[in-house]
Amino acid sequence: MLNIVLFGPPGAGKGTQSQKLIDKYNLIHLSTGDLLRSEIAAGTELGLKAKSLMDNGLLVPDEVVIGMIENKVRENSHAGGFIFDGFPRTVPQAQGLDKLLLDLGTEISCMLALKVDDEELTKRLLLRGQTSGRPDDQNEELIRKRIQEYNTKTTPVADYYAGQGKFCAVDGIGEIDEIFADLCKQIDSLKEKQQK
Ligand code: AMP
Repeated sequence: MLNIVLFGPPGAGKGTQSQKLIDKYNLIHLSTGDLLRSEIAAGTELGLKAKSLMDNGLLVPDEVVIGMIENKVRENSHAGGFIFDGFPRTVPQAQGLDKLLLDLGTEISCMLALKVDDEELTKRLLLRGQTSGRPDDQNEELIRKRIQEYNTKTTPVADYYAGQGKFCAVDGIGEIDEIFADLCKQIDSLKEKQQK
């Protein structure tokens, strides 16, 4: 299986690049942000609880997102692989994912991290807010809060995968297709190594 963690702060381009990668490599896209927004739209109890945290730019509890991911991964256990987008966002989430994948006889192949500076992120998210309809993209203070959550709670996840020799950084500023080509280069060399 090819299991990729597509990593990066809010607005780094994870959603855009995931769409292109799933088409090219035939992978299943699992975005915890999208899953949580579906729960909110469906008016579930989980969605109601998550909404107030999301509306304040705060992370949803680990056990909630791990549970959602576990259901989706088990439902699709015969897939060729997954792209995890916006997950894991904390070290306990990364540990939970490792445990789940081990149980299925597989593992994370690599973390691809999109690097974008905070000012560019804020600009991109405010622009996205004009069309995305996402309340958390429309307020600069909230955007800065989300970036701060990322810098404090999520950055350690990169060290977690670096410790396993699975971390790879890619420049997330530039043309979408150029960034996509850089990501593909990393994935192709990984696939070559997997086949050896
Ligand atoms: P995203 O669409 O990835 O930007 O996520 C939107 C919001 O959903 C985040 O600001 C968090 O409140 C919540 N969220 C998404 N994924 C996670 C996660 N893995 N852990 C905790 N909270 C999450």
